[in-house]
Amino acid sequence: MALRLVVAWILTLASVPVFAAEVDGFRVWTDPEKTRAVLDLDTHADYQLFTLDNPPRVVIDLPKSSLDHALTFLEEHAGVIDNVRHGSPQKNTLRIVLDLENKSSIRSFLLDPTGEYGYRLVVDLFPENHAQKRSAVKQLVDKQKENRNVVVAIDAGHGGEDPGATGKSRTREKDVVLAIARELKKSIDAQPGMTGVLIRTGDYYIPLRDRFEKARRNRADLFVSIHADAFKNRKVSGSSVFVLSRKGASSEFARRLAASENSSDLIGGVTLNDKDDMLASVLLDLSQSATMEASHAVAESVFGSMSVLGKTHKNHVEHANFMVLKSPDVPSILVETAFISNPSEEKRLKDPAWQRRTARSITDGIQNYFYMSPPPGTWIAANRQPVRHRVVRGDTLGEIASRYRVSLYSLRRINDIKDDKIRVGSELLIPTT
Ligand SMILES: [Zn+2]
Repeated sequence: MALRLVVAWILTLASVPVFAAEVDGFRVWTDPEKTRAVLDLDTHADYQLFTLDNPPRVVIDLPKSSLDHALTFLEEHAGVIDNVRHGSPQKNTLRIVLDLENKSSIRSFLLDPTGEYGYRLVVDLFPENHAQKRSAVKQLVDKQKENRNVVVAIDAGHGGEDPGATGKSRTREKDVVLAIARELKKSIDAQPGMTGVLIRTGDYYIPLRDRFEKARRNRADLFVSIHADAFKNRKVSGSSVFVLSRKGASSEFARRLAASENSSDLIGGVTLNDKDDMLASVLLDLSQSATMEASHAVAESVFGSMSVLGKTHKNHVEHANFMVLKSPDVPSILVETAFISNPSEEKRLKDPAWQRRTARSITDGIQNYFYMSPPPGTWIAANRQPVRHRVVRGDTLGEIASRYRVSLYSLRRINDIKDDKIRVGSELLIPTT
């Protein structure tokens, strides 16, 4: 039996005392190039790693380390790893063995704590047999294609030391938008092929840039930020849907709003400097055209379903320079659900039934959008349903066609409409091909 010392004796420094580590977790992930295994450790650890053939396996020895539970991993992410087991060949040495499907070349390294992660030992496995590697890649691609759910990141605005706007009877924006966000997650999770992910799950502040970064880490297909508006004039009411404007705020009103929403980053203790803004604008120009196009489409769809629910502040989707919408690659919208400064809307914002209806209405708009333009490889792409539009007062066939980005001709044809008259309350089928 050949013992190959691939990466031998990685005792970081000979003079450093041997560390005792506890293995807290084990994760694997496979991309087209490699399978990555990660051991979560509670402290810095020394380790030795070598490979054995027949059958191929990787042996990791962690002196003075311990493990008090079985290591498990998700099979669909396992790639070249067949099995993982552990034992103790010598007293006080923890040995972890990865059984491999194919001989692989190995790269390993230690990582220091960062963000939510602690110390990690990373083992990358590159399968050597190309045909088998290709099949592993194909398997992975198939897995990725396998009717995944679309992921909707739901961002409840403000939080923690940033209460957002406050109503006349002291209702705080941060509280009602979290309640609506939770309802929205419930409503989205109840739809086949859709999963909601809450960006903020409690009463704490998340810097604006971290909000869309968290959405990107969750591989979100869409980012929806939930807010409640405020204005000096307490009579102002209605919901609004915003997308990012390229040229900044498009009206005085939107500019005021953008200033107040963006200022929460200062309240939260993070100052956005010029460099960040420049980087953001460069990113924006490079990759945001397609994202903005998709943001517009989803905003139109959500605006359409919100206008079925109740009064909208304006009769169109608005644009503003919201930092939280600046994700370069995740379509993003911001929904101002109602005016907390308007006493009757403040009352509604607190009403669980209204919160549920609003969440359902946003869900409808999002769902319609995904049925119109499903991301490839998703359950929705494989199970497209016809999209229906409920006609509200003021709708015209031309507006509906442009809102859903379909031709007037196909809209007339699928609904068998001859004279372009549409009845308020009736349902129109929207062509999805
Ligand atoms: Zn807000």
